[in-house]
Amino acid sequence: MGSGRTQRGCSDNSVTQVSATFGAARAFDRHYSREIMGERRRRTTRSARWSTSAATICTISAVAFAGFLAPQPSALAAETDPTTSVVVRVDRQDEVVSITVDKIKRNERITVNWGDGRKSKGRTKCKAKQANRGLAKCSRTFTHIYDEPGTYRVVTRAKKRRINERIIEVLAIPRPWSRTSDWVQPDGWQLMTGQATFLPCSNVKWFWDSEGQPPNRSKMRQTTREALQFVSDATGLTFTETTDPDAADIDFNWKYDETKYPGAAGYAGVGRESGYVTLNPKSPWTSDEWAGWGLMTRGYVSPAGHFGQRSRDGNGDLVLHEIGHVLGLGHVDDERQTMNAGASVTGRIGFGPGDLDGLWTMYKSQPCPRPEAR
Ligand SMILES: [Zn+2]
Repeated sequence: MGSGRTQRGCSDNSVTQVSATFGAARAFDRHYSREIMGERRRRTTRSARWSTSAATICTISAVAFAGFLAPQPSALAAETDPTTSVVVRVDRQDEVVSITVDKIKRNERITVNWGDGRKSKGRTKCKAKQANRGLAKCSRTFTHIYDEPGTYRVVTRAKKRRINERIIEVLAIPRPWSRTSDWVQPDGWQLMTGQATFLPCSNVKWFWDSEGQPPNRSKMRQTTREALQFVSDATGLTFTETTDPDAADIDFNWKYDETKYPGAAGYAGVGRESGYVTLNPKSPWTSDEWAGWGLMTRGYVSPAGHFGQRSRDGNGDLVLHEIGHVLGLGHVDDERQTMNAGASVTGRIGFGPGDLDGLWTMYKSQPCPRPEAR
């Protein structure tokens, strides 16, 4: 908690502008443009970088100079009323906010006070010749990145005269849930890395890599789909199967690493924004005869050659356990939970109460970040 997110629910718009009573609006050529600039590196946590381009402003003197631009030039002579400022909402604090002062007279000295203690200053690069021709190219753009989310009053001045004012609301960068310093370990579940892997409400893409999958393990893919439905219900995440491994946030694959995890039916790992589940093609537990969710009561021979005698949940429980790791859950001693490391028998379909509590805390109880920021 405490991440600065303010919204619950996944529906919201992008940029809000409040300008109905903006006094000199006619003389201000305002526009907003939002472009996708970034690569899709953090897929579910951060899919796109937005550039917020704010306003284009005509200076008073410039408009007076090129009178045809302003139907009522005299209206510009008054200072902007702070109560009618345009509100520009910036989705994230690392977005570039830019203000372009347009059609300014040569030698105009422009100052932008960003409202966070910092200022930008500059003069037009316009030449006298261009200015005389109509100032069309006489503009200067100032850019800024805010360090903290918050509401800022941005005042633009030409010489010392205030020519524009606007309110910029900067929203926090969406971050996955993470443990705070006063974190108290609850009963029933443990953290693996100290934080959630995905942002709440994310659409998580998964890829099924069938290389190395024995023919008698063909039901595991369907079991995985069913397991992900349980996970979706418990977390509020959505899961989409993709055929593009590069686009996947979770990679399911087949491999038996005898030295790394001897005898394990599966293991999972997690990075900063993705994870993998590796299934053991030699483990009896991944075989089709143990497919799904029913309680398996037959004995089995482990990869190490040991005969297992106790009963066990169907291999859907194995998949749930490994996905639990990818989501950020660690092992618990409590044998009633899916995140118990042993081959415990719950006889239950789906997660245990502790598992559910952890997933609720890390995902489902968290407000959705703005959908554009995913
Ligand atoms: Zn485990």
